Formats: sequence, C-alpha cells, structure tokens
Amino acid sequence: ERNRDIQVFIKDKLYHRDEAKVSVFDSSVQGGDAVWEGLRVYPEGVVCLDEHLTRLQESAKTLAFEDIPTKKTIKKAIKKTLDANGMDNEVHIRLTLTRGEKITSGMDPRVNQNGSCLIVLAEWKPLVYDNKSGIKVISSSQRRNAPQFLDSKIHHANLLNNILAKIQANVAGKDAGLMLDERGFVAELNGSNLFMIKNGIIYTPYAHACLPGITRATVIALCKKNSIPIEETDLTLSQLYNADGVFATGTMGELTPVIEIDGRDIDAENDLQKKILAIFKNNIRSFCEKLT
Ligand code: PMP
Repeated sequence: ERNRDIQVFIKDKLYHRDEAKVSVFDSSVQGGDAVWEGLRVYPEGVVCLDEHLTRLQESAKTLAFEDIPTKKTIKKAIKKTLDANGMDNEVHIRLTLTRGEKITSGMDPRVNQNGSCLIVLAEWKPLVYDNKSGIKVISSSQRRNAPQFLDSKIHHANLLNNILAKIQANVAGKDAGLMLDERGFVAELNGSNLFMIKNGIIYTPYAHACLPGITRATVIALCKKNSIPIEETDLTLSQLYNADGVFATGTMGELTPVIEIDGRDIDAENDLQKKILAIFKNNIRSFCEKLT
C-alpha cells in the first residue's frame, strides 16, 4: 500500500525503500549498537521534537558515539524525508542512530570507520490501540534493566529485555507485558510507561528502571498545570490490581487505559482517568513543532 514507495533518509541522502540499505558491517547489524527515537507527526508538526532529539543525542553521548549529528541536521533530515513522501499526518518516524560502519566485525567501537549513521524512516501508521477501549496485560518474569546493569535512561536499540516480556504477553494472548524492576516494584510495560490512580491521586513509578518517557513527562507536566495531584513513587503489583484506574503512556499509543492485569479487571471509567485522557487529547497538538 502507501508505504510501499516511501523514501528513507540514510546518512545524508534519500533512497527508495528498496534501495535503503546499511552495510552488513554496521554496528547495529553486528551488535544492536544503536540508539533510536519513535516520533509522531500530526498536521501541527512533530510532537515534542526537541525532547526526542535531546534524548537521542544524550543516549548517543552516553554510548560514546562519534560525530553525533546536531539537532539542526536531524531536523533537516526529517523535513526532507517528510516532504519527499508528502507526509503531514498519521505518520510515525523512527529515528535510528547507529555507531556506524565497522572496518571488521567485532565489539570494539574503535573499529568504526566513518562516525555514526543516521536513519530517518517515516511511515504511515495509525496510533497503536487506536480502536481499543483498553489493553490487557500480564506481569512478566522478565525484569526490566536497572541502572547497575544497563541504564534504562539510554534509549538504545537493544530492547531484547522488553522483547522477551512482549513474547510472554503474546503467548498468554495479552496485549503487553508488565515488567518489574529487580526489587520487584513496577517498572513499566514492555513498550510504554505506566500510571495508576488511587483515591484522586495519580501515581507513576520512579524513572529508575523504566524509559524516562516523553509522554510520561508530558502527563506529569499536564497534571501539575491542571492542579491534579501526581506523585512518582514505588508501586507494587497489588497496588495496581486494586487501583481505581491504570493507564499506559507512549508516543505511539498516547494514553491507553489498562483494563486487565494478571486476570484482575481494572475499571476504565474512573472520572479522573477520563479527565487526564481528555486533557492530553486537547493539548497534545500544542506540543508539536512545525519544521520549516
Ligand atoms: N518504555 C519503553 C520501553 C519504550 O520503548 C517506550 C517508547 N519508545 C516508552 C516507554 C514510551 O516513551 P515515549 O513516551 O517517549 O514514547
């Protein structure tokens, strides 16, 4: 369909998707050695673009990538890609920055030849869970990486930890895997952050062992702006089972009610939950950046 003829930006040029290739010696192929961002395009522009680019650059700096492109360069590449494809809405952008092409396979970053490699892949995609009233999740036996192992603040492409949790959810016929941290407290879902509501207060786990989601930060900011009590705290599974409402957050799912956790029903009709979902819908477009 429409995505069959898209143009993909690699390093400094656009290629038809059939010609869009990276070297088999690229660090991402040889070791999952890459960082990435998933962005969403509305007619008003790209949501929280600057925040996404900051996270991409900070992740790349942590991993000591060389020749990290500037925000200006990346924005130009995104604009070029969107223009070439005539895209202005319902679009998901996957930005990947790999460590780049290696002179030989192997782990040592010093065998990289040409600095990092930027890939801008933009596709027409509806929001995930768009037609669902809510999602059903199971808790996974797979613990989310904690900072002493591999800091979840790095948005790296090596999400095998989360993929294993998603596989468990698939096998159980559920939508997502709920991951605990190494202490047994709730971290996040395999691809989104979690919030819960109890007695008029919204809670979310500390960002110690979850991705510090940009949608998560937006929800926290919107709560504060609208005088809705919000707290970061340790949360247990039992607290989630007995919550007045639970919802997931992410760029590609926006805010999605969780209606079942480990077979326990969760109410999706909580007034405060409906309120924050509506506030988000009404405000998300004001966080968009139009590219010029
Ligand atoms: N957690 C994980 C593990 C994710 O992969 C993502 C999306 N990349 C999120 C949370 C949500 O983050 P954001 O709100 O920045 O899209």
